[in-house]
Amino acid sequence: MKNPSFEELLHKEKEFVLQTYSRYPVALKKGKGVYVWDLQGKKYLDFFAGIAVNDLGYAHKQIKKAVQRSLNRLIHASNYFYLEPQISLAEKLSLSSSQGKVFFANSGAEANECALKLARVYGNQCQPRRGTILTLENSFHGRTLATLFATGQAKYHAGFEPAVGKYVYLEPNNISRIDSVLSDDVSSVLIELVQGEGGVRVMDKTFISALSEKCRKKNVLFMVDEVQTGLGRTGRLFAYEHFGIIPDVITLAKPLAGGLPMGVAIIKRELAGLLKPGMHASSFGGGYMVCSVANCVIDLIRKEKFLSHIREMGDYLSGQFKALKQKYDFIAETRGLGLMQGMQLKFNGKEIVQKALEKGLIINCIQENVLRCLPPLVIEKEHIDRAVSILDSVFSDAAGK
Ligand SMILES: *Cc1c(COP(=O)(O)O)cnc(C)c1O
Repeated sequence: MKNPSFEELLHKEKEFVLQTYSRYPVALKKGKGVYVWDLQGKKYLDFFAGIAVNDLGYAHKQIKKAVQRSLNRLIHASNYFYLEPQISLAEKLSLSSSQGKVFFANSGAEANECALKLARVYGNQCQPRRGTILTLENSFHGRTLATLFATGQAKYHAGFEPAVGKYVYLEPNNISRIDSVLSDDVSSVLIELVQGEGGVRVMDKTFISALSEKCRKKNVLFMVDEVQTGLGRTGRLFAYEHFGIIPDVITLAKPLAGGLPMGVAIIKRELAGLLKPGMHASSFGGGYMVCSVANCVIDLIRKEKFLSHIREMGDYLSGQFKALKQKYDFIAETRGLGLMQGMQLKFNGKEIVQKALEKGLIINCIQENVLRCLPPLVIEKEHIDRAVSILDSVFSDAAGK
């Protein structure tokens, strides 16, 4: 069969795929390491990594091996059976985080759904009953109906009302607002420690300390959405480690299964009994193959040497971004943690992304003017230098206009 041309693909996509995405004008064909190639054979340096999913880069030897091993045994079996890779993965996740118990789902939104269901059960058992969940303005927790309204951005709610669930939204890093928003009806808090889609916004340590302390005093569950920040992205295995807290619930997804779909909620032991047999389930969750791959991913990422590599690369990238800010006054701010770095521009960043793409660099723009970089964690200094030099040349063209 002949490969379709790019134009044919474009045409068919419009015809047959639900038009909910605005895509880059590129059709990808393969990847290796930190690079991907399009249909026409053009090579790109990938500083987006499939939205922080491909953290070990493309075509990683050990991931391929894990897939292969599982292919020869089982792809799926269902949760009617005990599966060794699922149980060993749960043990690893638990022992390297809160020592909690793990629920297996298939995406970030589903991992958060589990957290939100736990929050409901917990709130319903409180005396008096508590029905509200606190999240942050600008947050992003997913696109299912519950996670959509947990997401503190009105633009995503529009058209999907009525809201599913009762939420209050707190302004990030505003300590003085906590008391008025954290009412007696709040059962739980769900937050990102570095907001991803909301614009690469890092929470202040003082804000998180104050919020978590108030939650502890009022017996409010403190749940952290680490779907994007978890598993090394910020230079620690989990972002909460930067803040000196251990959340009651941790959700993970994006990079967990090396590109295969998986989401998990890790629930502290003393709360784990709230979800009893039959109260939550997933057909695909914790499947043999995804768990085999995730075991491999976590073994590679949790090595201290790898985590220090991420911190080193993160510091270097952040330093290079700061240097660009010195040079171009249309860069309003640079910010981030580890290899989650953003740059806020004084104008819409769409064209910058497009020009970078033309020069062979994949980045992302969110909230209209925040350039977001989420390179694979296996990135090296030379790749950062290349990416920064492409950005520099795109910026210098933009400045010349
Ligand atoms: C991407 C993301 C989600 C949603 O994950 P999906 O797998 O797309 O459902 C939830 N929370 C955060 C912080 C995310 O970055």
